[in-house]
Amino acid sequence: MSTILQLAPQNVWKHFYSLTQIPRPSGHMEKITEFLVNFGKGLGLESFVDEVGNVIIRKPATPGMENRKGVILQAHMDMVPQKNNDTVHDFTKDPIETYIDGDWVKAKGTTLGADDGLGVAAIMAVLEAKDLKHGPLEALITKDEETGMYGAFGLKPGTLQGEILLNLDSEDEGELYIGCAGGIDITATLEYKEEAPAADLVARKIVLKGLRGGHSGLEINQGRGNANKLLARVVHDLLVEFDCRLSGFEGGNMRNAIPREAHAVLVFNPEDIDGLEEYIKEYEAQINEEYTPIEEGITLTLENADLPAAIVPEEIQDNMISVLMACQNGVMRMIPTVPDTVETSSNLAIVTIGGGKADIRILARSSCDTMKDFLADSLTACFSMAGMKVELSGGYSGWQPNVDSPILHAMKSSYQQQFGVEPAVKVIHAGLECGIIGANCPGLDMISFGPTLRSPHSPDERAYIPSVTKFYDFLVATLEQTPGK
Ligand SMILES: [Zn+2]
Repeated sequence: MSTILQLAPQNVWKHFYSLTQIPRPSGHMEKITEFLVNFGKGLGLESFVDEVGNVIIRKPATPGMENRKGVILQAHMDMVPQKNNDTVHDFTKDPIETYIDGDWVKAKGTTLGADDGLGVAAIMAVLEAKDLKHGPLEALITKDEETGMYGAFGLKPGTLQGEILLNLDSEDEGELYIGCAGGIDITATLEYKEEAPAADLVARKIVLKGLRGGHSGLEINQGRGNANKLLARVVHDLLVEFDCRLSGFEGGNMRNAIPREAHAVLVFNPEDIDGLEEYIKEYEAQINEEYTPIEEGITLTLENADLPAAIVPEEIQDNMISVLMACQNGVMRMIPTVPDTVETSSNLAIVTIGGGKADIRILARSSCDTMKDFLADSLTACFSMAGMKVELSGGYSGWQPNVDSPILHAMKSSYQQQFGVEPAVKVIHAGLECGIIGANCPGLDMISFGPTLRSPHSPDERAYIPSVTKFYDFLVATLEQTPGK
């Protein structure tokens, strides 16, 4: 017997326990799919797997609640398989071993799968319950959220009948999410013919390190330094101050991160190199001063380098540094209707110049699809001016917040009634399944909420026990107070 079976609310924890016994790492959905469909059928409910692999279970309204709007309860069935180096665990076969540590439920050396197992467990508890009041319900349990939201993307319009969607995949009890960002990948490239540098030149590598970086959505509002932007500025100034030329530039390595490191190789006339060391030192001090206290310990250093075989032609070099200087980066706009919340941003994520090719990669995000298009067009305009070829790909919809949403109003007052405080209403500047599902099923009134989890996607993942009772009670009250048709 696992001790989590004794936790309240027992009906939620017992289903969560069952889920820990079924292997369900993203990409291995067979067992969990079968389990969920059998669970629904066992309750005598209409249960099926849609074309892409999502599980859908329908539960009719309870007597007297037939006129309420249909509610879709949504969670994802997969979990992130992460373990500590010294833990022996096969996520495709072994159960997750849970334990209680004070107010928290944790797993032994692995991810817990409370993201989103607690959401699924709460849905199972509602489907099984005989003592609740609710309108028509549909459970939508999506597959492979963690690796690309494949279930949400593949959901066919018309599969669902409900008008309200409650996504149970948020990680802070007491917060209601009413919007999320969509995204689009922007890739600008240019091929050029390299030039050979004169044999008497000397090369130096300029290395920028020590920035905090971070998630390009969730942390874009922190004002952190972007290594590519900062290094482009340094190179721009070096081109002005010293008689030098660019050979190569490399910074960042992840599309969805704020770049932390970048370096460039430049060639100089030996007689012009005087004072370069001093100049870089002063520049380093200046950057650190500008970014205190957001960043600390940024390093800008000069390294000796072998004379490269090729340099960038002067016109291309000037154009590339100009576009890096000019292109939009960071927060472009805040949401007009929601205080202190980023709407639209970009991250100048990856830059490589060298070997006859320049390549710039950016992830643009916005909760407003038309602002996302505007940002993508602005970046395209900027890079096109330098003769670059620009490709837009991998676009997905955001979820634009509706502060007048009927279910939001109902849930705010219900939360206030139950717990005596207002829930926080937020928009997340990252992708959620709601954005994708909302695009596939236009007109859904959506809210995302959940129990409090910490460090999801890591072996430190833990669920805050007291928040699970509040989360479930709030879910039950929300179903009871669903607006009528
Ligand atoms: Zn999740």
